[in-house]
Amino acid sequence: MTELLLKNVRPFGGAATDILIRDGRIVRIGKADASAAEVEDGGGAIAIPGLIEAHAHLDKSLWGMGWHVHQAGPALEDKISTERRLRRELNIDPARQSARQVALAASHGTTAIRSHVDIDTDQKLWCFEGVAATRERFRDVMDIEIVAFPQSGLMIRPGTLELMDEALANGADVVGGLDPCGIDRDPKGQLDAIFGLAEKHGKPIDIHLHEADDLGAFSMEMIIERTRALGMQGKVTISHAFCLGMTDRARAASLTEQLAHQDIAIATTAPASRPVPMAAELRRAGVRLCAGSDGIRDTWGPYGNLDMLERALFIGLRNNFRNDADVEYALHICTQGGADVMELADYGLREGAFADIVLLDAETVPEAVAARPKRKLVLKRGKPVARDGQALFTVE
Ligand SMILES: [Zn+2]
Repeated sequence: MTELLLKNVRPFGGAATDILIRDGRIVRIGKADASAAEVEDGGGAIAIPGLIEAHAHLDKSLWGMGWHVHQAGPALEDKISTERRLRRELNIDPARQSARQVALAASHGTTAIRSHVDIDTDQKLWCFEGVAATRERFRDVMDIEIVAFPQSGLMIRPGTLELMDEALANGADVVGGLDPCGIDRDPKGQLDAIFGLAEKHGKPIDIHLHEADDLGAFSMEMIIERTRALGMQGKVTISHAFCLGMTDRARAASLTEQLAHQDIAIATTAPASRPVPMAAELRRAGVRLCAGSDGIRDTWGPYGNLDMLERALFIGLRNNFRNDADVEYALHICTQGGADVMELADYGLREGAFADIVLLDAETVPEAVAARPKRKLVLKRGKPVARDGQALFTVE
């Protein structure tokens, strides 16, 4: 039996209390004496549950490989083909790069990651196998969920579907998809294929949908229809969903209502450069919302750092959140929102849950989002994995 007593911490910025952890779980939140084997003095820090990175690409960062001079053209297809070429040229090793991102994410207080992982007829299962090795290697540090993701298209690249099927049979957790009109130009073909894979393997779906306006709405309606027909309520996520930011607000409201009805979740990165689903509208309609960093420091662009507290800030800025309750909701999207979508059992800052806990030096949760202090302490299953903004383990 291992015990850890976190003394003098403030859950979600509330009154100071203690958290007793035994064998990786929170057994008591309340004043306790220091009889436990180990004691950590929180010094009045805010305690929140582990941050959840619900949309990452662990296989494709250039983190730690020096500055990359951006080469890709502006279109989505340019970025996809440039990346496919540079993967081997630059030796963007998925095992090494995903390990580096696990350390980076842990340093920022993230305790679970949903990662899309490229599967195509050039790389075959190289990216999947690299990230799966990292998932195994760091299973005590990070929960990692792998989405089998047809980044280069599915219908336009025969053989991709069979590779995705193989990945799902060998430990991929989620079926991915991508712009069924814009990339594949065959929405029925792609969506029937990926919903078929989901049905065959009994796995959820997470589809990248960058398509804007009417085209995106058309694809979204096809996704909604299949979710309904196959009884996959609560098992489908649409990432980005830029079409929900369309200027035709009546149509966006109708789509939002249908999403709520089929319990389809939305994953957002809250980008400054595109129209986005508006968090308050989704919340009012009862649509679950999670967030992620997307690719960071990769051949797609130079930004990102896997800090989900910063992502909460971006959500706040993008949605014009100013009052404390709204800013707290931005953090909720980056914690409980992601945990719901990843269906993480026993998540949360409550007795009985896993002790995935982040301590933050701030007066209130909104201040923590605004100021993004270094994470004072990060616990995974009750064990320290990062302190003062530094991971407590090293990767090459
Ligand atoms: Zn993505």
